[in-house]
Amino acid sequence: MTCQEFQALLLAGETNPAMAAHLPGCATCRAERASLEDQRDLLAQPWVWETPDAGLEHRIVADIAAASRPGRNRSFGRKRAWAVAAITAVISLVSGGWWLSTRPDWSLSVPATVRNPDAIAVVSGWNSGRGTQMLLDVKGLAPAGRDAYYEIWLTAPDGRHVSAGTFKGSGEIEAFVAVRRVDYPRIWITREPEDDDLSPSRYVVFDTGYLTE
Ligand SMILES: [Zn+2]
Repeated sequence: MTCQEFQALLLAGETNPAMAAHLPGCATCRAERASLEDQRDLLAQPWVWETPDAGLEHRIVADIAAASRPGRNRSFGRKRAWAVAAITAVISLVSGGWWLSTRPDWSLSVPATVRNPDAIAVVSGWNSGRGTQMLLDVKGLAPAGRDAYYEIWLTAPDGRHVSAGTFKGSGEIEAFVAVRRVDYPRIWITREPEDDDLSPSRYVVFDTGYLTE
């Protein structure tokens, strides 16, 4: 069994003795295993398939055709074709922001501070094993201007914080942070001068406090 076959079958939700035999001798597949299992679980969710992007079906068909060209190992058969389709779907979903087409796990309006009282920030979040994917919809926030930017922070009750990225003003902002929101419940946004101080400034434009959704 090749690595490609092993990984395709794993994605397809398959377990068999040949796969079990491959794993102990293959560091590559051992290293990929957890990630592939995450993707397999993702593929098993019905919502993944609710809103495929326009080119997906075409690419799956092309890949199945390529996988079943004469001269290839035919014993793998339909299962292989299915697995190739699954891999294609995963690549497409991961690279295409699959989370945008799914329902967020949580969504909340982050209160504006006196700095920009009329500004609105709605944050939607998708929880995953790797962290939290967020989409911010920010309206009415003045541009940060030259030599400054806005920075998104998540903070734990004990005061530890992590930056979820920076942006320049109103609009839709995609952000990812490698922590769970349940551990870092406070979401807040500061305006930061471009300097060598990497800690949050006191210029806070949005802040949930420690509210949870
Ligand atoms: Zn392998």
